[in-house]
Amino acid sequence: MRIAVAVDGPAGAGKSTIAKVLAKRFNLMYIDTGAMYRGVTLLSKRNNVSPEDTDILCRLIKSLEMHFSNDRLIINGEDVSEEIRKPEISNNVSLYAAIPEVRELLVQLQKEMSKKYDVVMDGRDIGTVVLSEAPFKFYLTASPEVRAKRRYDELLENGINVEYNNIFQDIIKRDFIDTTRKANPLKKADDAIEIDTSNLTVLKVVDKMSNYIRRKMSNQL
Ligand code: C5P
Repeated sequence: MRIAVAVDGPAGAGKSTIAKVLAKRFNLMYIDTGAMYRGVTLLSKRNNVSPEDTDILCRLIKSLEMHFSNDRLIINGEDVSEEIRKPEISNNVSLYAAIPEVRELLVQLQKEMSKKYDVVMDGRDIGTVVLSEAPFKFYLTASPEVRAKRRYDELLENGINVEYNNIFQDIIKRDFIDTTRKANPLKKADDAIEIDTSNLTVLKVVDKMSNYIRRKMSNQL
């Protein structure tokens, strides 16, 4: 049986940084599902497809060849990893991700990936929908202020100039859309382990998760 680790939580909770370290430790493939929604948003913007144009949007998604290579998102042969992190994508991605038809297509792709590889997948609906049968599920949280500061520092590090307050507002807006949408809203799976990362280092969180995985693997839980 394939190993599957689900990591969910709101923006800035530390999911991707933590999932990448965990992936190395357990030799898993890291799948950033948020990047896939961002990729769809980027291609839609480039092609002037608005969230209301559901049919055109679905056709566009079906025409895309999307895969990860060394944690980089490649769409139709182009590495879009940097472009999908820009504020104009962050500000719009939740609108595209709220469309049930878009989710259906991407969830299907994500499920196919989990059948091919041992994965750690992060997102919003991994433990509840995409990998609902996963033996290892985690739900990471942190205060909105800490999450906004992390995103702010990350963007500055990548040379993208932003106002902290705009990032904070974007996080609050995205939390609202992600938790209240009808299709697969962000919520903790009943059987997920919740970890508040506000005051923990990345390694502390990864250690907690690793201990849980090892204990469960050796049937101690
Ligand atoms: O994880 P990240 O912040 O890059 O995700 C961007 C957006 O993609 C989220 O705010 C959410 O709207 C959407 N998303 C989702 N389901 C996932 C992953 C991301 O709806 N599994």
